[in-house]
Amino acid sequence: MRYSGWQVFKQGLTGNKGWSKAWRSPEPKPEYDIIIIGGGGHGLATAYYLAAKHGLTNVAVVEKGYLGGGNIGRNTTIVRANYFLPGNSEFYSHSLKLWEGLEAELNYNVMHSQRGIINLFHSDGQRDAAARRGNAMINQGDDAILLGRDEVRKMLPYLDHDNGRFPIFGGLYHPRGGTARHDAVAWGYARGADSRGVDLIQQCEVTGIDSENGKVTGVQTTRGPIRAKKVAMVAAGRSSQVAAMAGMRLPIESHVLQAFVTEGLKPVIDNVVTFGMGHFYISQSDKGGLVFGGDLDMYASYAARGNLPTAEHVMEAGMTLMPMLGKAKLLRSWGGIMDMSADGSPIIDKTHIDGLFVNCGWNYGGFKAVPASGYALAHLMANDVPHETAEAFRLDRFNTGHGIMDEEGRGAQHNLH
Ligand SMILES: Cc1cc2nc3c(=O)[nH]c(=O)nc-3n(C[C@H](O)[C@H](O)[C@H](O)COP(=O)(O)OP(=O)(O)OC[C@H]3O[C@@H](n4cnc5c(N)ncnc54)[C@H](O)[C@@H]3O)c2cc1C
Repeated sequence: MRYSGWQVFKQGLTGNKGWSKAWRSPEPKPEYDIIIIGGGGHGLATAYYLAAKHGLTNVAVVEKGYLGGGNIGRNTTIVRANYFLPGNSEFYSHSLKLWEGLEAELNYNVMHSQRGIINLFHSDGQRDAAARRGNAMINQGDDAILLGRDEVRKMLPYLDHDNGRFPIFGGLYHPRGGTARHDAVAWGYARGADSRGVDLIQQCEVTGIDSENGKVTGVQTTRGPIRAKKVAMVAAGRSSQVAAMAGMRLPIESHVLQAFVTEGLKPVIDNVVTFGMGHFYISQSDKGGLVFGGDLDMYASYAARGNLPTAEHVMEAGMTLMPMLGKAKLLRSWGGIMDMSADGSPIIDKTHIDGLFVNCGWNYGGFKAVPASGYALAHLMANDVPHETAEAFRLDRFNTGHGIMDEEGRGAQHNLH
């Protein structure tokens, strides 16, 4: 069924009884050409582009929970193309272009809102770094505007501009950045893949990866074995556990990142705003909730929930930047499991097992990457060569030391900041 204004009108007049299911719930077949482990944003986007761009439809996405239950439905929804290093910048630039056409491509309202992102700076050194990053973004073909004190004060009057410790010197404005509704992105890709013949198999955990003579042959699951010619591991925070099934040890640590949402308020925050002197970022959802987050919980864990010290730390940063936040009531918080790579950049590559692929290392920024990641992994699996925007995301950079992309300059202990 094609979604349109006419359908909404027609269904509204007939009691909304005519909507068809957005995707099927098929039983797993004994064999597929391609199996994707993980029905998060990246897995579903990969399945979609395999079918839509490469005509490969004998594909199954095998998900141990439900679609949208992982990080894809847990993030703070920020979409941007403001990366600095070659290797990353062209990839995220491609992703933002895909975002800009995504709703039309998927015939699905993912509520992509280019409301602009402002990264604040609070010192001369930070201003220099912001100018440099802005120039890199412009060279990449994206947009960046360096704002001075008065411009930021005019755009964001609700901040504590003259804070005694962290006065605001200005901000790097990325007008094409913004937000999207996170789980709608999973649903849109799921519906698009399903309608092209991809089987989306939920409540089916992969428990083993089979190979013979160095070639992948399928997976073991809680619903029985499934054979496949190619398998992709797209399990985000669980990547290390899944790769261990193939005898691999990934350069990934899993860490918890929390998100917080207040009660619904009248519109007050037009953009996405990030604090330059603490890890804090905030936007306002279309329902009115202030959506914000901060640092990792700083210990490796597979628990999709956070602890109070980090909650307190995030609130402190928020109150420093935006004291009015103290008046809002916090409604909800949750955690997601981040696949932190040693240099903070992702991996989209083949493995030492023929036909086995890996997509991981999205750290706390993999939501914005979903379209380009799915596009690039589908390209790699279909053509056996990396897509031009993802050539740098090689697994062997952690072995050889060549091509490390340490975007934040935090060294090998990226997870510790
Ligand atoms: C609080 C928070 C805030 C964030 N904010 C942002 C942001 O503002 N912007 C941004 O760009 N990114 C953000 N991120 C990061 C982003 O959400 C992730 O990088 C991205 O969603 C990860 O990829 P995914 O969607 O494929 O992951 P997931 O949705 O986690 O998908 C992986 C799937 O694999 C499944 N799986 C695991 N093991 C198995 C198995 N053995 N068998 C079958 N299935 C399995 C899981 O159940 C899961 O559904 C944030 C993350 C969090 C938690």
